[in-house]
Amino acid sequence: MQEISVKTDRRTQLIDITQQVKDALGAANGAAAALVYVPHTTAGVTINEGADPLVAEDLANALEKVVDDSWEWKHVEDPDGPNAPSHVRSSLINPQILVPLRDGELALGTWQGIFFCEFDGPRERKVYVTALS
Ligand code: ZN
Repeated sequence: MQEISVKTDRRTQLIDITQQVKDALGAANGAAAALVYVPHTTAGVTINEGADPLVAEDLANALEKVVDDSWEWKHVEDPDGPNAPSHVRSSLINPQILVPLRDGELALGTWQGIFFCEFDGPRERKVYVTALS
């Protein structure tokens, strides 16, 4: 397993980590898939369009509207502050993706990129990349 560090600078932010995942995988010859996993409860990882960065911005904005900060939340006692909406957004996105490998390379579609999803930034985050045989 390889570890990637991601530094976020906004509360909700999607960051393209496709190249970092490729670098972390290195020569994954013989492996069938790459597991990309986020060990956090207020972040996630997803695949979406990487060509136009505005798509990631639209997705971040949409998730902030789908789960509204102004709702009546119960999880208010957290060392990091009342971040219940961040937890819910994280579960909508999920903590992992699985990408098939073709000859050791990520078999992503032409427009696809891998995005780290921050929902309670700014923070220093981790992403685990594992080549599965
Ligand atoms: Zn919390």
